[in-house]
Amino acid sequence: MYKSIIVGTGPAGLTAAIYLARANLNPLVIEGPQPGGQLTTTTEIENFPGFTDGIMGPELMDNMRKQAERFGAQFTTGWVKSVELGERPYKLYLEGKSEPLVTDTLIISTGATAKYLGIPGEQDNIGRGVSTCATCDGFFFRGKEIVVVGGGDSALEEAGFLTRFASKVTLVHRRSELRGSKIMQERVRDNVKVAWALDRTPLEVVSGENGVGGLKVLNNVTGQEEILPASGVFVAIGHHPNTAFLGGQITTDANGYIVTTPGTSETNIPGVFACGDVQDTRYRQAITAAGSGCMAAMDAEKYIESLEHSAVIM
Ligand code: NAP
Repeated sequence: MYKSIIVGTGPAGLTAAIYLARANLNPLVIEGPQPGGQLTTTTEIENFPGFTDGIMGPELMDNMRKQAERFGAQFTTGWVKSVELGERPYKLYLEGKSEPLVTDTLIISTGATAKYLGIPGEQDNIGRGVSTCATCDGFFFRGKEIVVVGGGDSALEEAGFLTRFASKVTLVHRRSELRGSKIMQERVRDNVKVAWALDRTPLEVVSGENGVGGLKVLNNVTGQEEILPASGVFVAIGHHPNTAFLGGQITTDANGYIVTTPGTSETNIPGVFACGDVQDTRYRQAITAAGSGCMAAMDAEKYIESLEHSAVIM
């Protein structure tokens, strides 16, 4: 039996692992199909404090993993297919294993996955002009034309943010009405660098000489296909949190994000904590995920201490 199991190895899970291992609690960390999380799909990270010249996403995650291992965190690869959180100790069932892993505390840091359009040319051009993170990659498009796809607050926010770098940002949305909030819409409408391509359905990411050359869309009004020239295509059509394996045992919001007690990493189940993007609908940054991983480890440590204390008293 483990004192603590961490599911997920993005910056949140690995930071939790560093803290718990350093507190001699020998956590077991379960690595899923994308070890290192979303950052392993980005290139250079320039805004993680402490790296004056930036650091490549995979290298940062590899460093965090090694740091956790140095203090004694154990790692195992597996896909958690279900959990039993009805009573402590909690049980986790891994795909292909009959015996569950058993633990006193559980830290859920399984992240959220950006949705993609699923159109031709999209996956081939990830890291070559297709991105789902303006904060991460906007800087690489200085003076260039960009297309942002989506009509929600994320797309509006990303479009506004990207005008800091791009010469022009075209917002592509499949309907004539945006989904995003009025205030965000007004802000973007006032921005002279933003052009609108409403009522356009994305069909294909078109390759150019060095990566992306544009986005082919269907004009839903005229029925004609058009190519919007762009060096970057930012897909901002939402994320989905990776919480299906919890089988509804943890309280989530309407979109499936885990609800934590404000200012803590506590979920509705004592001893089960959540950190990183799986519970964050607002910031979604590597550094905020790492910070919340630290919170989860400290909350778990306190909880384990309280269990040991009550065992002594009994
Ligand atoms: P969202 O509100 O679900 O919007 C997703 C957008 O992408 C919609 O406009 C949708 O079109 C479009 N879309 C979805 N699938 C598509 C596809 N296959 N092809 C083309 N377009 C597609 O997601 P979000 O913008 O990420 O926002 C999620 C939540 O976070 C919201 O509650 C939002 O308010 C919040 N948020 C808040 C802020 C802020 O306050 N600063 C910033 C970002 C996000 P349809 O409209 O046609 O469905």
